[in-house]
Amino acid sequence: MTNIVILGAGYGGILTALGLSKKFGRSKEFLITLIDRHDYQLFASNLYEVASAEEEMTTLSQLKHSIALPLEAIFTGRNVNLVKAEVLQINPVSNSVFTGSKKYYYDYLVVAVGSTSDYFNIPGAEKFSLPLKSLNDAFFVRNKIEFAVQMHRLDANKKNIRIVVAGGGFTGVEFAGELKGFLDILAWKNRYPREKIEVTIIEASSALIAGFSARLSRDVLDRLKALGVRVQFSSMTAKVDEHFVELASGEKMEYDVLVWTAGVKALSLPFTKQMETDKKGRLVTNEFLQLNTYNNIFALGDGACVANYDGKPAPPSAQDAIAQAEYLVNTLPYIIRNKRPPAYSGKKHGYIISIGGKWAILDYNGFYFTGLPAYLVRQLANLNYFRKVVGLWKAIKLTVFDMEIYSRND
Ligand SMILES: Cc1cc2nc3c(=O)[nH]c(=O)nc-3n(C[C@H](O)[C@H](O)[C@H](O)COP(=O)(O)OP(=O)(O)OC[C@H]3O[C@@H](n4cnc5c(N)ncnc54)[C@H](O)[C@@H]3O)c2cc1C
Repeated sequence: MTNIVILGAGYGGILTALGLSKKFGRSKEFLITLIDRHDYQLFASNLYEVASAEEEMTTLSQLKHSIALPLEAIFTGRNVNLVKAEVLQINPVSNSVFTGSKKYYYDYLVVAVGSTSDYFNIPGAEKFSLPLKSLNDAFFVRNKIEFAVQMHRLDANKKNIRIVVAGGGFTGVEFAGELKGFLDILAWKNRYPREKIEVTIIEASSALIAGFSARLSRDVLDRLKALGVRVQFSSMTAKVDEHFVELASGEKMEYDVLVWTAGVKALSLPFTKQMETDKKGRLVTNEFLQLNTYNNIFALGDGACVANYDGKPAPPSAQDAIAQAEYLVNTLPYIIRNKRPPAYSGKKHGYIISIGGKWAILDYNGFYFTGLPAYLVRQLANLNYFRKVVGLWKAIKLTVFDMEIYSRND
């Protein structure tokens, strides 16, 4: 019996488990085990929608249904052993994974446990800001914003309520852009002057979505401005306390809600031995996604440092995690048969950034357009992912459901 254990039921882990179960599922020679601390896959790309959904327009259970795909439903009829548990230790010498109550032995291990927020050791950042990485984070951010408005609705001199988003990357701009509809409703419900609820993105560099084209950064900025979001460039966070963000320039910005979207780093894994990692804590792999020291351990997704088509480490993105999982599904049979597989070459992806309601920017392979058409292509991209994991019919239902509930506050 060959035991394949996969850690993490995110984009990478799910598609690895699904693909391998199609390849090996019918054979009694293989046992595939997928371990995650949750019994669902979080569709993180829509987290900003959940964090900005108005309470009375959508219920918690609708929001959970929109973004958390139950593993049972994904793996119905598949020969995959699902385990809901926290991985506490990986022992590469005894080839085992310990979850606190049980040990799982493996012949091949796939590590796909993703990433966590990077606070860059900035004093106070982790303690006082709110991350946007999990379902609970999204609910918490939403509640905190609502609470901030409710707290001040009876004030005689209604103060300016400041929502500060630290980091002008994909997550930061999508979240800040989507807040408009939510804040319009909150202001109306609480009879709060709308102009007194401010949203500001603080970005350390001189452009939004740094590293991408100047045109993309400019269009993102124009759209955010049209939605009433302020953007402050060259604003490196130096320190955070309960009420203020202090910038490297010495400027102090008061905030009511501070959301941290400034970066991610790999989750530090509980290996019993020191593994080779890069400066973001990602497990370094060779061109077959194997760890150099232990060839029966593979790493992929946000937690892995995998060379991409351009020789640089692949960025933390669902698209890269999916490409790596699809590669591994085809590669593992070679490795099991002691044959040399083709090397991973990575893929150049396009990007679709949604900013406020049914409006997005698509930048892909020479195609560039904005507005409703780009938003619709994004929904098709979501549908394509759902199709891979739950089948076409459920994927259509889920996409239509998501579009309907998320547009209630547009
Ligand atoms: C708000 C937001 C928006 C995003 N939007 C996009 C987008 O539009 N497009 C895009 O390409 N990417 C997007 N991303 C990035 C994308 O979500 C990640 O790159 C992707 O999830 C990485 O996949 P993964 O398989 O490596 O890890 P994940 O999908 O994060 O999965 C990791 C899994 O491991 C589990 N896990 C972790 N530690 C343990 C443990 N010790 N024990 C048990 N289980 C564990 C977790 O519960 C999780 O299920 C977004 C991310 C965020 C946060």
